[in-house]
Amino acid sequence: MDGHDGTCNNADRCAGYDPQLKLGAHTSRPLCGDCLDQAARNIRSLVFDYLDLAQLHEPTLSQAIAERASGSKERPIPISQHVEALQAEIVHVTTTWEYELRVACRLSDPGTVRPSWRVTTSNYEPALKTRPGTAVQRAVEVIGSRLERLSQLPATVVCPTGVDDEPADMYGWQAVQQLTDLHGRARGMLGRTTRRFWIPGECWACPSRPVRGVDGPLYRSEPKFEGDPMQVNCDKCSAYRAYPDYETYMATLLWPELEVAA
Ligand SMILES: [Zn+2]
Ligand SMILES: [Zn+2]
Repeated sequence: MDGHDGTCNNADRCAGYDPQLKLGAHTSRPLCGDCLDQAARNIRSLVFDYLDLAQLHEPTLSQAIAERASGSKERPIPISQHVEALQAEIVHVTTTWEYELRVACRLSDPGTVRPSWRVTTSNYEPALKTRPGTAVQRAVEVIGSRLERLSQLPATVVCPTGVDDEPADMYGWQAVQQLTDLHGRARGMLGRTTRRFWIPGECWACPSRPVRGVDGPLYRSEPKFEGDPMQVNCDKCSAYRAYPDYETYMATLLWPELEVAA
């Protein structure tokens, strides 16, 4: 697969997805213009995602989010490892593709260019490791302004999510998807989930009904962590309930009675 068949490789995630043909928008490029615009916004947000995740290390805030995520005050989940792992992945993925773009576009390597004032003997600093937040910001600047170029990079061997990964072939357009997904995962972890999985069915709380070819009204939100409760939500009225209720509904076509909260 050369990764291209005349339609947008985002397929059912494409901004111009045709639900009847089950194809993304027509384009001569790997990803269509609308998808690239959308991806540019999401990928630029990774700078803020990274900073917001860093704030989760504040113990009170992280505990509050853990309680909300677990739905129980008794067993807050320690989330700092999740947060750190995602931060590390953001650094790895953004700098990986920054590097590939620098090679492809023949940009200078920032590690070899250093302002002269920094190399005088009086204030010489050994080549410090760039602070991770700064590295993400620099990488996102390089990527954000060259997203179309990135989306057209041929397959190249990278460690997809971290240095411990098995090296694998990835196309540039897959990198665009990967970076976009990282943004979604960060927002999910921050409790502002944007990623939705549309599911069939009618809302139990409002008159919303599915319309052919249109997403909704029901979606399930991506669980933030393993073991999190899954919920089904209505896009129209914002009602939500436990996912097992949805399974009952799908089996019987009747929503079970809502348990009244004590
Ligand atoms: Zn598209
Ligand atoms: Zn509803």
